[in-house]
Amino acid sequence: MSRFLSCAYAGLEAYTPGEQPRDKAYIKLNTNESPFPPSERVVQALNADEVRDLRLYPDPDCRILKEKLAEAYALKAENVFVSNGSDDILNFAFMAFAKDRGAAFPDISYGFYRVYAELHGAKYVTVPLDGQFRIQPEDYASMGRGLIAIANPNAPTGLALTLSQVESIVKSNPDSVVLIDEAYVDFGAESASGLVTKYDNLLVVHTYSKSASLAGARLGFALASRALIEDLERIKYSTNPYAINRLTLKAGVAVIEDAAYYRQNCRRITENRAYTIEALRELGFTVTDSMANFVFAKSDRIGGEALYRELRQRGILVRHFTAPRICEYNRITVGTRQDMEALVYAVRDILAK
Ligand SMILES: *Cc1c(COP(=O)(O)O)cnc(C)c1O
Repeated sequence: MSRFLSCAYAGLEAYTPGEQPRDKAYIKLNTNESPFPPSERVVQALNADEVRDLRLYPDPDCRILKEKLAEAYALKAENVFVSNGSDDILNFAFMAFAKDRGAAFPDISYGFYRVYAELHGAKYVTVPLDGQFRIQPEDYASMGRGLIAIANPNAPTGLALTLSQVESIVKSNPDSVVLIDEAYVDFGAESASGLVTKYDNLLVVHTYSKSASLAGARLGFALASRALIEDLERIKYSTNPYAINRLTLKAGVAVIEDAAYYRQNCRRITENRAYTIEALRELGFTVTDSMANFVFAKSDRIGGEALYRELRQRGILVRHFTAPRICEYNRITVGTRQDMEALVYAVRDILAK
């Protein structure tokens, strides 16, 4: 740390991304990327002409992409916000809605919520998950906070709320923005996107990083009432109006035009998830009923960190968290069937030792 850093940031504990090692080729099941490439349409959209056009700034308003997204979700372009990954949008939301009036989110959830709250000096409360790691909607009734952030399905548990549970939280907090982070919704949970015209306090956030195979392109979008979108635009235009580059804009449009390909990939992931959950349970693991592209599992025979290390030695990367309630678990991204068979084989081998 230099002696120049503002004291507001000196104590900040930054988010730790999953490792992206370069020492050898791993089966990478640690950051919830898709095992499938973007569709051919995306590959073709990013052609030499587009590269030549990189001398020009991108459209700061992202008009074409917004219109495509609006059409896909039966909304208007004014109900759509896009930015450089959904992390960017979460950051803006904490800045816009939590800074003065504080935030609330589950004690076990996406680690960035706490980081953004601290970055913007927002007071926050964490609401404990129940004994089965479930979010209890009643715990969120009338929170009196500026922002309530809930990942649905939640991370790293994979457990999902029903649409009516989400609606009850939105309804009981008319004076708070309720942010539903749907990073994993395409793998089987119910989206709240259809409610944004009904509730002016609902902000639904999506990412292209998981189900759309574009983690490297950095693209996220939010769906909400016109007024909430305007708030986010105000902050985006006060930081970096060109947050999304030209190639990513093109890729984002091509994904929407190829929806069937991505639906099929999601189906394959959910099949591989069912296979993995069943295989791990047969090996004595406790595994949550994940609705995401990862499973969350704990062995009764080996500790969470030991399993993480043994798998790493065998060339398989998974994500281990050290927080007390979840340190015996690992979060394992669902990859191809071959990836998951290799994982199950390795786990069996480790337990046999
Ligand atoms: C992966 C993830 C994000 C971040 O997505 P990006 O668009 O890659 O920034 C946001 N929220 C949750 C819950 C995630 O798991």
